Amino acid sequence: MTKYVFITGGVVSSLGKGIAAASLGLILKSRGLKVVNQKFDPYLNIDPGTMNPYQHGEVFVTDDGAETDLDLGHYERFTDENLSRSSNTTAGRVYLSILNREREGGYHGGTVQVIPNVTDEIRRRILLPAEETGADVIITEIGGTVGDIESLPFIEAIRQIRREVGSQNCAYIHLTLLPYLKTAQELKSKPTQHSVKELQGLGIQPDIIMVRSEVPVDAGTRAKLSLFCDVDPSSIIQNVNAKSIYEIPLIMEREGLGKAVCKALQIEDRPSHLEDWALMVDKLYHPAKKVKIALVGKYVKLHDAYLSVVESLLHGGIYNSAEVSIDWVDAEALTNREKTAGRLESADGIIVPGGFGNRGVEGMVFAAEFARTRRVPYFGICLGMQIQVIEFARNVLKMADADSTEINKDTPFPVIDLMPDQNGVILGGTLRLGKYECTLSSGSLAEKSYGEGTVWERHRHRYEFNNAYRENFDAAGLKLTGINRERDLVEIVELQSHPWMLGVQFHPEFKSRPNRPHPLFREFIRSAVEYSDASGRGNFNS
Ligand code: GLN
Repeated sequence: MTKYVFITGGVVSSLGKGIAAASLGLILKSRGLKVVNQKFDPYLNIDPGTMNPYQHGEVFVTDDGAETDLDLGHYERFTDENLSRSSNTTAGRVYLSILNREREGGYHGGTVQVIPNVTDEIRRRILLPAEETGADVIITEIGGTVGDIESLPFIEAIRQIRREVGSQNCAYIHLTLLPYLKTAQELKSKPTQHSVKELQGLGIQPDIIMVRSEVPVDAGTRAKLSLFCDVDPSSIIQNVNAKSIYEIPLIMEREGLGKAVCKALQIEDRPSHLEDWALMVDKLYHPAKKVKIALVGKYVKLHDAYLSVVESLLHGGIYNSAEVSIDWVDAEALTNREKTAGRLESADGIIVPGGFGNRGVEGMVFAAEFARTRRVPYFGICLGMQIQVIEFARNVLKMADADSTEINKDTPFPVIDLMPDQNGVILGGTLRLGKYECTLSSGSLAEKSYGEGTVWERHRHRYEFNNAYRENFDAAGLKLTGINRERDLVEIVELQSHPWMLGVQFHPEFKSRPNRPHPLFREFIRSAVEYSDASGRGNFNS
């Protein structure tokens, strides 16, 4: 019998519900339970795929090609479980399926209403991962804050579920903020009390209250919360600020979260095994050296836009005992060679992550040229790989104005282009999404990094390396070392005469874990460490 944990938020947003849900996933998994995390987002977009990164942050892609909320990235990194499209549902998707059914006559002339039709559809989707995976525990995070109009149907659905699955199989966690008033030197519990009342008014009594606070929660505040919110004192879990998100599961376990959840779900408690995780955090907190990675992109003002890339760099750092500091470089500010050189001089490695559209592209090309001519480690991801190809075409192959047709559709040398069968199709439906096989050339940097000849990686892009130019690149030393055989597409390029300059058409950042860094991030950071150790940097002129 699958058990269900629901996590709601109160008082304010951005309390780290996603990290809390991911941490709980790890805490339960470390007890030997099979866990699946899931998130419901109350907004009306069908998925975050077409949303501006400044609105939403990164779009996380699953193996099965779903474009999902970035919290799924936390879930995967903490629990080390690959999720699927059933792990993220928006209100938009719920309504879309209902309205489609209505048009097909699926309601047989009945009136279609929020209750029961919308709540039924939400409930069906809550139960879906249990059917698909046979998990022991499904952890469902409800986006937004209790009291929002748009989250009401979701709260109602999770209320109804208790009857459907039985109260012993269902636990509610409410995450709130305890503000600290400096003048009174006091933590204030009133907002939490109000938020719990609001939840109770909707028919849900939380089993566990998780409180986020800047300072440790004193016994008096705990007693007050217990009394007013009707929650056992041992089920009030404090979530104090940590230096790294990866320490949170350790803190929450020490606080008794695992125990409290097992009690609420009537699961016999067993010891958790977080020893390896604790070692990893210890390694993270005690690096032996430091490297600086310049991340060149166009959404650098919102770090969440590159969340998985940043986490993957940190994972590579943990493995190599290096603290990774990120220098956020706005690609649009790199307007010429001199500016670029001045800006990137102090970097031990340069990463150009994914992106869409032409803003900042010339700056990225300058950055790739800088990396190539100065022999600075370079890692190009998706757009970053395309940039590497464009730079090489222009400056080494002397194909003036070589470009991607996404950037310049009249370029004389379309080295990155749509595949013939894609031409003319509209935005949104034509991306290559999800996992594809990639065969690695033997002896390549990629093959040595992975330690195997065939890998699966996740994609999210529309344009591809143009096969018409393969021989030009190969002859000049930009080797095409990863190929998708099924569709004959270039997936990896490597510059032969360079210590580490590699681009991938896929998104390796979606598969990296803190305790198991992605091989390419691991090797990129290793080469950045070597670069920083070595002296003498070349000249940036080509
Ligand atoms: N804009 C490029 C494409 O569509 C790259 C996409 C990406 O970096 N995710 O192919």
